[in-house]
Amino acid sequence: MKEYGFNTTLLHGSEDSNPHGATQVPIYQSSAFRHDTAEELEKIFANKCAGYSYTRINNPTIESFEKRMTKLEGGVGSVACSSGMAALTMALMNILRNGDHVVAAAGLYGGTVELLDELKAYGITTTYVKENTPDAFEKAIMPETRAVFAETIGNPKLDVTDIEGVAEIAHKHGLPFLVDNTVATPYLIQPLRLGADVVIHSSSKYINGSSDAISGVLVSGGKFKWDPEKYPAMAEFKKYGPFAYLAKLRNGLFRSMGACLAPQNAFLNNLGLETLGLRMQRHCSNAMELAEFLNGLGHGITVSYPGLEEHPYHEIAAKQFHGGFGAIITLRTGSKERAFQILNELKLPWLVSNIGDTKTLVIHPSSTIAAHLSNEEKELSGVYDDMIRLSVGIEDIEDLKEDFRRVIEGE
Ligand SMILES: *Cc1c(COP(=O)(O)O)cnc(C)c1O
Repeated sequence: MKEYGFNTTLLHGSEDSNPHGATQVPIYQSSAFRHDTAEELEKIFANKCAGYSYTRINNPTIESFEKRMTKLEGGVGSVACSSGMAALTMALMNILRNGDHVVAAAGLYGGTVELLDELKAYGITTTYVKENTPDAFEKAIMPETRAVFAETIGNPKLDVTDIEGVAEIAHKHGLPFLVDNTVATPYLIQPLRLGADVVIHSSSKYINGSSDAISGVLVSGGKFKWDPEKYPAMAEFKKYGPFAYLAKLRNGLFRSMGACLAPQNAFLNNLGLETLGLRMQRHCSNAMELAEFLNGLGHGITVSYPGLEEHPYHEIAAKQFHGGFGAIITLRTGSKERAFQILNELKLPWLVSNIGDTKTLVIHPSSTIAAHLSNEEKELSGVYDDMIRLSVGIEDIEDLKEDFRRVIEGE
């Protein structure tokens, strides 16, 4: 079969056959699905035939979203969840047990640091590597380590993980490599193709694109060989081959914890996905231009953006991303007061605790999304009191530049 380009795949790559020739997959707003015979339902419950039974388990609208994500990330299957945090919880808890250890990058999204904190109560501990390099990950691996975790672009530290390098280290030690690809999106990089084993998204962000639904999704690469000694709970699912990880999740934690996505939100994600390539192209070109502009503005503003040559992770970003460097920029302003003044005086960007909207969003991470982190955790996550995070939207770039210039130059 011919391999299409990114946008063509988004628009024509789904295998959905919609009733009445509908051009969008309908919202199957149904909690459960009726069957003609008891035999049929028995087979569905025994995983012996395809079919739908109950929306907590699966649903045609949700499945259509999952299939699109599987294709975009180049995996073997996906599980859509009620939020990005639910997808992360599922991805990790599907393999971890009491006594296990995780090695994770330090620049993680605050919510993920909090989740890993919560897991301590279940006997699961985490070591954060200060420097995001394959060597540093290797040094942190212990006999109890059972997962390696990173974000492609750390939010908001903007460290860029060497996916191929870390995957190689993880596999050398018999460990799966899980990657949160929310900030980069499959437009910039498909981590499974570079050796990652599971990719997780907060699809509330760029995948959805318009900030109209919370959701998450995990995509399995299907290549990792689960050693039953290290992962005893995986043993009974080995018969599913590349689908072992997904089979365990769907027949276990996912259905038992009830982290399912709403069909309406899957529909909104399907709509949003059609323009992911187009939006990312504009998000990235706007971010690049704004970062360069702010960098040249002076007035005590320091810009961090992986697209800038002086950025510590520029080289690896340039090597592994195609089509841009993402749309998150952080600014160090000199003081919290100055940061607040800038946030308060900007006209176009909205003060919103979110990223990936079509509109430009700004926030002071230290007092909001990272407020629950300890000072040590903040420093590890690259959060400073004088820092502003921008999620650059798709507005006309000249308007954005002028708004920032006016505020920073103090007119
Ligand atoms: C937003 C975000 C999450 C959490 O996703 P929700 O959909 O808000 O639950 C996880 N990881 C990253 C990188 C995020 O930006």
